[in-house]
Amino acid sequence: MKHTKFTIVLLLAMLPLLAMAKGKKDTRLVIISIDGLRWQEVFSGAEENLLMDSKQVRNPKGYRELYWRNTPEERRQILMPFVWSTVAQKGILIGNRDKNSMMDVANKTNISYPGYCEMMTGMVDDAITSNNPVDNPHRNVLEAANEDARYKGKVVMYGSWQSTRYAIHNEKAGIPACVSYEPNVCKKQTKRLQMVDRLMAGMPHYWRSEHFDAFTYAYALETLLNDHPKVMWISFGDCDEWGHSRKYDLYLDGANATDAFIRDIYQTLESNRFYRGKTTYIITCDHGRGFANEWANHGSSTKGSDATWFMMLGKGVEAKGETSECGPFYTKQIAATIANVLGITFTPDDGAQLSPIVQ
Ligand SMILES: [Zn+2]
Repeated sequence: MKHTKFTIVLLLAMLPLLAMAKGKKDTRLVIISIDGLRWQEVFSGAEENLLMDSKQVRNPKGYRELYWRNTPEERRQILMPFVWSTVAQKGILIGNRDKNSMMDVANKTNISYPGYCEMMTGMVDDAITSNNPVDNPHRNVLEAANEDARYKGKVVMYGSWQSTRYAIHNEKAGIPACVSYEPNVCKKQTKRLQMVDRLMAGMPHYWRSEHFDAFTYAYALETLLNDHPKVMWISFGDCDEWGHSRKYDLYLDGANATDAFIRDIYQTLESNRFYRGKTTYIITCDHGRGFANEWANHGSSTKGSDATWFMMLGKGVEAKGETSECGPFYTKQIAATIANVLGITFTPDDGAQLSPIVQ
């Protein structure tokens, strides 16, 4: 009798721990990166001088109607309505420098591939200085997830740009990945996916090493619904490409379209039994861009292009909304944030354990 009572007390004491373990076990994570989208547009919407420049916007009057409003709050709402409704209400946003919410890349290049390597490996390797498509030599957090029994074979990536897959050396890590005009990697093929493959193959290959984000979105969503991966990295790229071309109209359209893609992914997963209430979402970028007319550029010589931003919502994320007076946080802390969400141990190759951005 005494023994039974003791057992019951012990079991009751263990309940929170068991619940926590179960919660971790049931976690799904969607990481979304938007290449080179500036914090300026995310937090303040369109910039007036750029919007009115007929060299950078095809139809300034029409685009002003689309994206110009009198206050930064209205402008950002019209540009990225999902971010400024759902994420702002249910999640956390970091990186508005006008409110001293600071986040930067720690690498000195301020370009994409070193940014993605920093994000996924949790460290900076000063030898990685180019965007060349070569495998990142360091262990990354998605690889660590794929080695954990809970996530093994359930980690997938879709990216628009060719070099993104090398940031997680996906072949060596055994992580299926589809980038830059490659066919989808969904295990359960559907007619819809095959149609998207054909559409992409038949579209003009406008950029040499990067396909349009619409395909990345379609592949990612279909794969989530058909294969039920537990961890997915979706890497969008249109904004950076239009930025380099100085097409501010298409850059804004890219931000607006990406916001709609993210809304659809979020709403679809939150109405799906496998993902609903069990999924955490991280949304971030790989680097910033310059100020004012330098907006088209980024890199070590472009002032301000080290500035990044970060958002998180979904399972386990407190609704803190837009933050102020915090940081600086660094992109290299994203790996620790991912590990924390998934409940896995991850030590970067440089041995430095960083704190998650959001606990
Ligand atoms: Zn770029």
